[in-house]
Amino acid sequence: MCIFCKIVEGEIPSNKILENDEFLCFHDANPRAPIHLLIIPKVHIEKFQDAPASIMSAITPFIQEVATKMGLDLSGYRLIINNGENGGQEVPHLHFHLLGGTKLSWPHFSKEATHKSL
Ligand code: AMP
Repeated sequence: MCIFCKIVEGEIPSNKILENDEFLCFHDANPRAPIHLLIIPKVHIEKFQDAPASIMSAITPFIQEVATKMGLDLSGYRLIINNGENGGQEVPHLHFHLLGGTKLSWPHFSKEATHKSL
């Protein structure tokens, strides 16, 4: 069972923000922003590339509810999905990173100049 499935099952503790039958939101253990949350489907889906459209559709209002609950709906926030090895995904269970609570920078994500790939 993957680490996020263990969190869903309550085998590993988490600092929960919001949950319903399908989705769970909890604090990231290694925050990269004043507010850094993870939002996951309770069902095990390894990565975004495998995600059915129905899950992505259903998770949208859940994420919006989290943002509102955290007071980020007006100030703004960033959503990130790391997909697979080159995407930097470490936990093989689909998750959104929701980052906010400050004005986020927009750093270079690769050592290679981005214009070279355009
Ligand atoms: P990713 O690199 O996109 O797979 O992100 C995985 C994220 O999960 C990282 O930001 C970790 O800090 C976070 N993480 C790993 N284990 C836990 C845990 N037990 N509770 C909360 N966050 C975790």
